Amino acid sequence: MVVVGAGMAGVQTAVALREQGFTGTVTLIGAEPHQPYDRPPLSKAILLGKAEGSAFDVDFEALGIDLHLGREVTGVRPGDHELDTEAGPVPYDVLVLATGAEPITLPGAEGVPGVHLLRTLDDAERLRPVLARQHDIVVVGAGWIGAEFATAAREAGCAVTVVEAADRPLAGALPDEVAAPMAAWYADSGAVLRTHARVRRVEPGAVVLDDGSRIPADAVVVGIGARPATRWLTGSGIELGAHGEVVADDHLRTSAPDVYAVGDCASFPSGRYGERLMVHHWDNALQGPRTVAANIIGEAPALYDPVPYFWSEQFGRFVQYAGHHTSADATVWRGDPAGPAWSVCWLREGRLVALLAVGRPRDLAQGRRLIEAGTVLDPELLADPARPLKAATA
Ligand SMILES: Cc1cc2nc3c(=O)[nH]c(=O)nc-3n(C[C@H](O)[C@H](O)[C@H](O)COP(=O)(O)OP(=O)(O)OC[C@H]3O[C@@H](n4cnc5c(N)ncnc54)[C@H](O)[C@@H]3O)c2cc1C
Repeated sequence: MVVVGAGMAGVQTAVALREQGFTGTVTLIGAEPHQPYDRPPLSKAILLGKAEGSAFDVDFEALGIDLHLGREVTGVRPGDHELDTEAGPVPYDVLVLATGAEPITLPGAEGVPGVHLLRTLDDAERLRPVLARQHDIVVVGAGWIGAEFATAAREAGCAVTVVEAADRPLAGALPDEVAAPMAAWYADSGAVLRTHARVRRVEPGAVVLDDGSRIPADAVVVGIGARPATRWLTGSGIELGAHGEVVADDHLRTSAPDVYAVGDCASFPSGRYGERLMVHHWDNALQGPRTVAANIIGEAPALYDPVPYFWSEQFGRFVQYAGHHTSADATVWRGDPAGPAWSVCWLREGRLVALLAVGRPRDLAQGRRLIEAGTVLDPELLADPARPLKAATA
């Protein structure tokens, strides 16, 4: 059993194989030199120096997982059941692809001094002293990473301007009316959010926008999304989708025999939502591996059909989301979005399909279960924020 990529999904796959009773050889190969670690703290505690590291608490040796770090896999030949790595070929019986995603770079700003990305521990360690200097920072992109980085930079005392090409934060992730209240969070924290702001170029000490304005920047942090890290699969014959992701089926099998894919690098068909999903969130890298391990061991083949879940910590708020809202036919608000705590529920034919909770973790916990159960809810009862979500059944 060989797993490529020693991030959350790869590590969890190796661990799940052992937990589910697999006794053969498990080899885990990762390109990064560090002991495998968790990414969410990188934009939170680690950035601010509140935590030194986020290595997974896994005893690889005790579990009999053969860990190869600092070793990049450069290709796979499914016909030969063999991988190519910097240190020579590696044969496999079953292969799991878990190479995650890599940040999209800002065209023209690659390699410019003072321009940063935030994906790896090395990135976070490079950014720590930048925050400590309390200079002017420009963040490109008001997505999840941009918002979390801006939060940390404000906490560290930096002057922060966030430039966003769209008309609101999180434009790719949430509908207009839900994302709109979040724009105020930037100003409340003392950060400047500039929407409709497209970067023309990055110069030493400044970011120049399309409208010609220059924003002083001792450092620039680019958070404009991530793409699956699958370039190494080009020419392998393994099917890749429109976003470069590995196209997996509902058992997380790829188009090649004995090859599975899991985590940020893959998409899967969601039976629950009737469309193919590519989920770049932590919980998917935790749940998917359990399905992969079950399907590899083969005693009870398992379908992968999760209710996606993620959280974000930004501007002093705990934001959580469960489900997938694109097919919803009704939206119900619980509470005032100008206040500190509120939720949004999305319904389809009366059933809860997705929920966003800001500072209302109980809504999230109950909502997640209601989504899973497909319970029909009464929109009027649901709109009362004082009523527990689970008491809003029709
Ligand atoms: C800064 C940050 C903060 C986040 N915060 C949150 C959060 O608050 N909530 C949330 O839900 N999600 C969060 N996420 C998302 C979450 O961390 C990811 O969804 C999760 O890490 C995905 O795990 P993965 O194993 O699929 O991919 P990755 O974590 O990307 O791991 C893939 C690993 O594979 C390695 N690799 C790639 N190519 C090769 C190759 N050819 N050969 C060998 N190894 C290779 C990579 O070096 C990497 O170590 C955050 C992500 C980041 C970057």
